[in-house]
Amino acid sequence: MRTVQCIACGVYNKNREACKNCGTLLSYKKRQEQRAITERHQRIETAKNKPPSYIENLKNHKLLIFRVFGWILYSGFTVVSAIGAFIAWLVFAIAAG
Ligand SMILES: [Zn+2]
Repeated sequence: MRTVQCIACGVYNKNREACKNCGTLLSYKKRQEQRAITERHQRIETAKNKPPSYIENLKNHKLLIFRVFGWILYSGFTVVSAIGAFIAWLVFAIAAG
């Protein structure tokens, strides 16, 4: 026979896994398991309430695309103006020659 006092209400329980008075699990292992399940559920609920992480990733991704796009535009502009300068020089050279 095993008598365990309930940690929640102090009632003595004989050979029971849960308190007969308040239903609190008496086994430490069982309580840990129960707490792990509860914490997992809480984590899932917290995750549900937060915006999905892929939105954050997309934001970062977009920023990178814009950064790359801006870099391409910038280098494109630089190349175009270099070609433009080369053509202007070529026309000037031909006209002068
Ligand atoms: Zn109890």
